[in-house]
Amino acid sequence: MAKRGWEGVMMSAYGARDHIVTVTEREEITPHFVRIFMSSETIFTEVNAGPTAWIRGWFPDANGDGFEYQRGYTLSQSNAETGEFAIDFVLHEPAGPASQWAQAAEPGWTFAAQTLGTTKFELPDELPAGYLLVGDAASIPALSAIVATVPEEVPLEVYLELHHETDLDIPFPTHPRLNVHWIPRTGTESLAASIEPRDWSDWKAWLACETASMKPLRVRLRDEFGFPKSEVHAQGYWVEGKSMGRMREEDKAAAEAAKAARAATPRNPSPSHNVKLLLTAPHVARGAPPREAGSLPR
Ligand SMILES: Cc1cc2nc3c(=O)[nH]c(=O)nc-3n(C[C@H](O)[C@H](O)[C@H](O)COP(=O)(O)OP(=O)(O)OC[C@H]3O[C@@H](n4cnc5c(N)ncnc54)[C@H](O)[C@@H]3O)c2cc1C
Repeated sequence: MAKRGWEGVMMSAYGARDHIVTVTEREEITPHFVRIFMSSETIFTEVNAGPTAWIRGWFPDANGDGFEYQRGYTLSQSNAETGEFAIDFVLHEPAGPASQWAQAAEPGWTFAAQTLGTTKFELPDELPAGYLLVGDAASIPALSAIVATVPEEVPLEVYLELHHETDLDIPFPTHPRLNVHWIPRTGTESLAASIEPRDWSDWKAWLACETASMKPLRVRLRDEFGFPKSEVHAQGYWVEGKSMGRMREEDKAAAEAAKAARAATPRNPSPSHNVKLLLTAPHVARGAPPREAGSLPR
């Protein structure tokens, strides 16, 4: 059985259950964006099929080190009755375990997925003046689901950070009051700087982009545009130049030690206070700065 390191230890301490997901079909949307259709007999017993719902997939590294690595991916086209859904993967360079897996995945391939901490987008009872949505190719599946959910009378301003010219070919839904702006990334400030100054009173913001681009974005929304914390949902989706949750060698050693300690403990121990704090820290930050990616599950 593949090893999962410290992340795996934490997830099992909280009783996260594996759901087997099987690839049924793949569709190349662009040379850097693939839609993989999948099914699972059990996943919809835990995850709600609503917009922006996501799972934690465990993917093997192509270097064959015997470890699996956890990555977040958004479900789309979910059918809770049949257990079918799709995931859109960005095929980025440099690649990581998940994108390498997606690059090669064929019908019949499987992976394990967990659902701990998954969230979904819900419309409030009182609709906001509009939605400001900010992301990039990795969050297009989530942003598309939001656009499809927001009523026709509510305006939407969407800012997408352009990382690769083929991102422009990724289909995006239509909406009568939708404006989409593609912003070429020239640095970590360019996305934040591109947001048009206007009256953003009573708007809500939903932000899911590269982590270094997120910080100036959140600061600008708060300090220049006056977005209250409560109206901003922010989640770093990936980190430029760094793997999400990839374990360093010492993390692997710590994971092995923690696993051995657990095996030696006679009864189901409660997770330590520290572990609890780490797991309950809001990785979907409402107002708080996006958490640095490290060895923790996102
Ligand atoms: C809640 C949630 C939902 C998500 N949903 C999706 C989704 O539906 N589709 C999707 O494609 N991604 C999604 N992501 C982002 C995805 O989890 C990350 O991109 C992840 O890092 C990919 O893992 P990897 O193993 O391919 O690369 P890693 O091992 O994490 O990273 C390897 C290298 O690739 C770079 N990299 C990682 N992601 C990107 C990227 N998107 N563009 C350019 N370079 C990148 C890193 O900087 C690093 O240098 C989601 C993330 C979260 C937290």
